[in-house]
Amino acid sequence: MKKLFTPGPTNILPEVREELSKDIFHHRMSDYKTLLYEVTEKLKKVYKTKEDVIILTSSGTGSMESSVVNFFNKGDTILVINTGFFGDRFIEISREFDLNVIELKYEWGNTYEYEEVKECLIKNDNIKGVFATHHETSTGVVNNIEKLGNLIKDFNALLIVDCISGLVVHEFEFDKWNVDCALSGSQKGFLLPPGLSFVALSKKAKKMMKDATLPKYYWNYEKYLKYYEIGQNPYTPSISLVKALNVSLEYLLSKGLTIIQDEKKSLRGYLEKELVNMGFTLFIEDESIRGNTLVPVINDKINIDNLVKELDKSYNIQIARGQGIYKDKMLRIGLIGDLPTTEYKTLVEILKNM
Ligand SMILES: *Cc1c(COP(=O)(O)O)cnc(C)c1O
Repeated sequence: MKKLFTPGPTNILPEVREELSKDIFHHRMSDYKTLLYEVTEKLKKVYKTKEDVIILTSSGTGSMESSVVNFFNKGDTILVINTGFFGDRFIEISREFDLNVIELKYEWGNTYEYEEVKECLIKNDNIKGVFATHHETSTGVVNNIEKLGNLIKDFNALLIVDCISGLVVHEFEFDKWNVDCALSGSQKGFLLPPGLSFVALSKKAKKMMKDATLPKYYWNYEKYLKYYEIGQNPYTPSISLVKALNVSLEYLLSKGLTIIQDEKKSLRGYLEKELVNMGFTLFIEDESIRGNTLVPVINDKINIDNLVKELDKSYNIQIARGQGIYKDKMLRIGLIGDLPTTEYKTLVEILKNM
């Protein structure tokens, strides 16, 4: 068995694996309706919302594309707060659909400048959507979404947030923070195999959806909301994964999100200390913006490519390297999975001896 110290996918819980091995039932029958309603109520607890949450059959990027095509018209102006690799992705998707993109770009390892975002919104009163990343997986930075929500609620724009690697392992309050659309995916904090993504929608978002004319078929949120009323998805869902989601959510919610977040934070502290002792440099200087999803470190003296391959080959341990220009410079050790602390201690000992 491979041990995944990666920032998603994660290893799979034994009870989830057992559920995945079971037989399925038909998705237009009452069993699925019961399951869908149960799972959605649990998802709402993770998002901290009373609003609708949709389940899509896709990896996280599918949900990102869905959030671009459901609210806007060709030529509409949107703002992307770009703090890394996944900020770039929102820009690429938005340009593909002929949106007029304003970009506020921040150096990797930093968060956004609040005053700059505010000024940009005031200066460009035609901005209809603001895209932000909750936890930026390429850098390990967690961006303050609460402050953005508080700002954007008074503008005629939606706040659309990629929480794909941020949810579960960080505090998140969809309703209280005035978020309009929040995306997440099964293979990150939800501890499932890849294949499902989740989208929470505010009333403001649902209102804007009505006038949106960008092309969409599979991603059309209105269809998902309509079918939800009868306990179904518009198209054949990944029934096994939805069943497994019910099991993993049960595990996460009964353990308690706050407990999980505290555990990750202290594990991060432990790893940071050990890695610094070994000669690594922490990528993010400002402690207050370091997230609980992964620990990003730099070390110019070692060959990252060799290290990652050797860990995999000799120890069945998989860790992630950097993304973009940091591909050969950074190590990203995931905290988002459910491996016990003892496994991290073993990893530290192995790294020390390499
Ligand atoms: C993993 C991730 C994605 C992309 O998700 P895929 O499931 O690979 O499509 C997008 N944004 C963030 C922040 C992520 O961590």
